[in-house]
Amino acid sequence: MLTSPEPLQRQFTVERIERLQYWSPTLWSLRITRPQGFRFQPGHYARLGLSIHDAEKPGTTIWRPYSIVSAAADDGLDFLITLLPGGAFTSQLASCAVGQSLALESAALGFFVVSQLSSGEDLWMLATGAGLGPYVSLLRTEGVLQRFSRLVLVHAVRHAADLAYADELYALAGASGGRLRYLPIVTCDPGVTSLQGRIPALLSSGELQAEAGVALEAAHSRVMVCGNPDFTADMRKFLSVRGFQPCRRGLVGSMLFENYW
Ligand SMILES: Cc1cc2nc3c(=O)[nH]c(=O)nc-3n(C[C@H](O)[C@H](O)[C@H](O)COP(=O)(O)OP(=O)(O)OC[C@H]3O[C@@H](n4cnc5c(N)ncnc54)[C@H](O)[C@@H]3O)c2cc1C
Repeated sequence: MLTSPEPLQRQFTVERIERLQYWSPTLWSLRITRPQGFRFQPGHYARLGLSIHDAEKPGTTIWRPYSIVSAAADDGLDFLITLLPGGAFTSQLASCAVGQSLALESAALGFFVVSQLSSGEDLWMLATGAGLGPYVSLLRTEGVLQRFSRLVLVHAVRHAADLAYADELYALAGASGGRLRYLPIVTCDPGVTSLQGRIPALLSSGELQAEAGVALEAAHSRVMVCGNPDFTADMRKFLSVRGFQPCRRGLVGSMLFENYW
């Protein structure tokens, strides 16, 4: 049980788990209460804390960052979380139930926000696994992607069940009059999606651009990349050789990365 205040040097509030949605045994959406005054921009992450049962260090809270999935104006805070067998935080989360409490660090953080990107025509949002989360927040928040004429959301997962929020995303794409293309990719279940393979390979071959009906060029495309480190490293190489510029402190760029581990 978490009680406030705690001995760590962190500002935090204790929030209640309102909903757990299981996409698959290892991919969950978690919704918690949102404290008054908690502000974030789509793309930000929050640090969540759980008390761990450690006989040697009683009262220890373990903290991990998670991208916020909710719209900026939502009453609650949603997160999309991959459960890792043996993971210190997520294996503890796996035994949590609705109504239990966890800690939320008081400030949302991060640089994975569209204001880091220079002006451009098209926004490509590329994700593996739970890396989809920040884009759902961006798409749910009215007006935040207004400046882009076309939006391409690519979500690569191993299994069909991992296509979290697919119904919502298809509905958003359907209602967008062609402005949003939602392109899911399932790599391990054959025949579920028309595209199969890793995102960098599908971009190298041009299949992804053909499916989207949108070219990927430094002159008019802006790219956000979120997910596992091999993917983000490969995408950085792919985009760099094509003239995309990183976002640096105080300087906008044309490619932006969030690395989950
Ligand atoms: C800015 C930021 C935002 C993040 N947002 C999310 C998010 O929205 N959803 C989410 O699920 N995770 C997110 N993460 C990762 C998350 O913070 C934890 O690292 C992850 O949940 C594992 O925590 P753990 O304590 O269970 O495992 P640990 O005991 O900390 O780690 C086990 C090891 O597994 C590796 N690892 C971490 N995540 C994965 C993974 N998904 N698959 C395979 N190996 C992994 C790491 O090398 C880690 O050292 C984010 C990370 C960062 C830095």
